[in-house]
Amino acid sequence: MVQDTPISFIIIGAGYAGLTSAIELRRKGCEVHVIDREESLSRLGDVIMLTANATVVLEKWGPVIEDILATSSNPTHITINDDKGQPLLIQPWKQNHNGHQNVWTNRGRTQKMMYEEAVRRGVKFTFGAKITKHWEDGNKAGVYLNDELLTADAVIGADGVYSRTREYVTGDADKPKRSGFAVYRSWFSLDRLLDDPLTHELASSGQDRTMVWIGPDTHAILVINSQVRYMSAFITHRDTYTVEESWNYPGTVKDMLATIEGWDPVLRAAISRIPEEVICDYKLLWRDPVKKWVSDRGRVVLVGDAAHPHLPTSGSGAAQAIEDGGTLATLVEKAGKANLPLALKAFERLRFERCSLTQRMGWELRHRWHQTDWEHVKKNPEFLRLPQPDWLYGADAEEYGQANYEAVMAHLLDGKPFQNTNLPPGHTHQDWTIETMMELDKQIGNQRMYLVH
Ligand SMILES: Cc1cc2nc3c(=O)[nH]c(=O)nc-3n(C[C@H](O)[C@H](O)[C@H](O)COP(=O)(O)OP(=O)(O)OC[C@H]3O[C@@H](n4cnc5c(N)ncnc54)[C@H](O)[C@@H]3O)c2cc1C
Repeated sequence: MVQDTPISFIIIGAGYAGLTSAIELRRKGCEVHVIDREESLSRLGDVIMLTANATVVLEKWGPVIEDILATSSNPTHITINDDKGQPLLIQPWKQNHNGHQNVWTNRGRTQKMMYEEAVRRGVKFTFGAKITKHWEDGNKAGVYLNDELLTADAVIGADGVYSRTREYVTGDADKPKRSGFAVYRSWFSLDRLLDDPLTHELASSGQDRTMVWIGPDTHAILVINSQVRYMSAFITHRDTYTVEESWNYPGTVKDMLATIEGWDPVLRAAISRIPEEVICDYKLLWRDPVKKWVSDRGRVVLVGDAAHPHLPTSGSGAAQAIEDGGTLATLVEKAGKANLPLALKAFERLRFERCSLTQRMGWELRHRWHQTDWEHVKKNPEFLRLPQPDWLYGADAEEYGQANYEAVMAHLLDGKPFQNTNLPPGHTHQDWTIETMMELDKQIGNQRMYLVH
């Protein structure tokens, strides 16, 4: 039901979480003002996997999905090799779930398309404004923008892994923690590989490809997008920097090659062709899952990495940020202005357990690839596969909000039992912390450690 007086939102952050929430709330008739500290959307251009649970949300926005699909890669399989380039597993990759595509797209370009869609739909934007202070009473919430208080019916903290809003909501000043790993990231033209006999085939096959190489404490991924003739190269490696505050360093080809000394010559040849100016060494941070996503007064809510930062090996951080927007807007529309704080609590209840699990999934895949049980892999290479479960990628966040609204409200208002179904069949939620995972990190991987298959 669309309100007579639109419900108004201030969203802090114009990443995937903020932009999706903005568009989804506009679709439901709300007024939205997005504020970001950056002067413009100048984002890293490397690749991001948008799985069907994300594309199903974007499809509802009209032609923007066509533009995204036209510039994305959609490989039919993923090759997982050992460090010498010996294939261990050729995993058929499901290209869609329920007709919605699983694609590997360009992070910066897709974000720009989302921004343009939000502008078209009448979302207001303010760039170059860093929010450092929140405000709230029982009826309104707000933020201070250069000493001026801006208010709305609710504030959404989509301010990423370093979120200030998270501290406001939880009252806990915990900081993101180093995961012990960093990733070299890059994005460059395939044409640079044409004149080397070792890499010529990669550049000229015309096929979309995703290739992984694994070794102790290190893995490399090459993603070839034949539609726009670009390649992304990632190497995840032990993080040796000691300066806590710095998280993003320029990288060099020499440094990248040093992390894969003696590895497959084809991989090394591809890496040696990367233009230095596009390489960055990105520190991978994580935070303990937090259960409290809504402020005590009920009008400030966390979404995206602010609520649930994901390691890249989950392949799910952006997709979960997008799901957040789909579910949140549905619950807001159904609850209406009078019940807005309840809608935000319902959002937290529907989303926390699922996101806690997909966050953990990032650790799980990295562990499979870094602390590999090679004896087990010899018998069953499937151990190394990237999970593609239906409960995760077959989901529609808007439908889930619709279907569970009555039950979650009865749970919040009358204490009726409520069980989420956006989890693996038979799964019982288990709390975890970074400390628990660090302990498990000391052991060689085995199936019993992992919750997502
Ligand atoms: C190497 C790498 C690979 C990844 N690959 C994948 C993948 O394949 N698939 C996937 O689904 N996910 C992937 N992820 C995760 C994904 O990128 C993130 O989970 C997702 O982008 C988070 O979006 P967000 O909008 O929550 O946060 P962000 O993108 O961090 O956006 C936060 C925004 O808030 C703004 N902001 C912050 N503080 C303030 C403030 N005080 N005032 C105003 N503005 C503020 C920032 O400027 C920023 O624009 C990957 C991540 C990494 C690092």
